[in-house]
Amino acid sequence: MTKLLIIGGSDAGISAALRAKELAPETEVTVVLRDQYPNFSICGLPFYLSGEVSDWHNLAHRTAEDISKKDIELLLNHTAESINPDTRQVTLRDPQGEVRLRAYDELIIGTGAVSADAGIEGLDHKGVFTLRWMKDMFAVEAYLEAEQPRSAVIVGGGYIGLEMADAFLRRGLHVRLLEYTDSILTTVDPPLAEILRRELERHGVQVTTGVGITEISEEEGRLLLEGTEGFATATQLALIAVGVRPNATLAASAGAKLGIRGAIQVDRKMATNLPHVYAAGDCAETYHRLLEANTYIPLGTTAHKQGRVAGENAVSEASVRFPGSLGTQAVKVCDLVVARTGLRQKEAQAAGYLPLTVDIETWDHKVYYPEATRLHLRLTGDQATGQLLGAQILGHQTAEVSKRIDILATAIYHHMLVDELSDLDLSYTPPLSSPWDPVQMAAQVWVRRDEAL
Ligand SMILES: Cc1cc2nc3c(=O)[nH]c(=O)nc-3n(C[C@H](O)[C@H](O)[C@H](O)COP(=O)(O)OP(=O)(O)OC[C@H]3O[C@@H](n4cnc5c(N)ncnc54)[C@H](O)[C@@H]3O)c2cc1C
Repeated sequence: MTKLLIIGGSDAGISAALRAKELAPETEVTVVLRDQYPNFSICGLPFYLSGEVSDWHNLAHRTAEDISKKDIELLLNHTAESINPDTRQVTLRDPQGEVRLRAYDELIIGTGAVSADAGIEGLDHKGVFTLRWMKDMFAVEAYLEAEQPRSAVIVGGGYIGLEMADAFLRRGLHVRLLEYTDSILTTVDPPLAEILRRELERHGVQVTTGVGITEISEEEGRLLLEGTEGFATATQLALIAVGVRPNATLAASAGAKLGIRGAIQVDRKMATNLPHVYAAGDCAETYHRLLEANTYIPLGTTAHKQGRVAGENAVSEASVRFPGSLGTQAVKVCDLVVARTGLRQKEAQAAGYLPLTVDIETWDHKVYYPEATRLHLRLTGDQATGQLLGAQILGHQTAEVSKRIDILATAIYHHMLVDELSDLDLSYTPPLSSPWDPVQMAAQVWVRRDEAL
């Protein structure tokens, strides 16, 4: 009987386990994770801290009991310390500190990512947090309850920083957001980021861009954050949200090759260079469907899909290939949602396309029906071929932003031309859209070209 061992019990690891069991029920599947929260949605951490999710147990995609019912063995609070690919054994440390060897026929590494620290000194002070694991969430919650801070500074204006700004606002804190670059949320174009910035400011968040924090110290019972060009600010709580890096040291010490940004190199079957060893999720590289090359895009959506592919290939002869990511993502910031898919102008240019981006602003639905709101769309296409390359949308959270970005992600997946978007038979009722959906209006502007940026 094949023994499949999976290191990591989150999105990638559990997806792999479920798929392997589905295809080859006779496989002995064991999932090892170093905490006690298998298959928890860490994407939900900000929404527990905001108070919108009242019971943390509900953050579980499925419970440990659900997983065990699928005949998957879970080893909670076990840390994989080393892998020997020659003998096909993994050294595990159990909760009592005992070390033992575990044999495998096939191994999947899904060890995820860890929070980056950008070299900031003083992260060990009380009141300074990062947010990646359930234990981080419990630590922030305990501090909020015990210390009742009135102010928070968030270092990093990426999507986690923005979600946490929203969360702390909901908890009644005065929030300051600091970002190193000139614009927050650098995954979208500056004009959209500027609208988000105004939204945060409208809700009382103090946003400062162009400042990098280098050191945190304690002064008179408060945290002092100091940074570039003499910048200094005091607060009671500091959240460092400056990105993630792949957790790939275990794989690397076993001889796995690392690639982009230190992530584990994988082919499209999610196989590493080591025999019988696969990797998936935030610890691994991500094949990009448009770039036709590996990149690093750590997202829960991708981790699920890569885990599924790794699980399938580990137990069958099927040789399925990861179809590729487009980096599709959405984030809600106060009353707005912003989303993107595919490539932006500069990214497309760097990839050798001849891109053109148009920008339109229109109503999300027929304006005679109450509560119509303004929707911003940016569409990027290749002038040489007419192929749709990318899109960014920003609108009110009721404006179906994610539905619309998903239409465009589907179109890009199928290599559609921008012009073909007008042919799509999209739904219409006045409270939700227009006879030409805004996505089609943007496509028509792109095709006319003369209104291009
Ligand atoms: C606050 C926050 C919000 C997010 N929001 C979104 C979102 O809205 N949309 C989206 O698509 N993505 C989002 N993400 C990203 C998403 O959560 C990750 O891409 C996803 O969790 C990656 O899954 P993974 O299985 O690869 O790794 P992880 O979730 O990082 O899990 C790694 C697993 O490996 C285990 N492990 C690590 N090392 C060892 C070891 N040596 N031994 C044993 N076990 C080990 C860990 O215990 C864990 O079980 C968010 C992330 C955060 C932190």
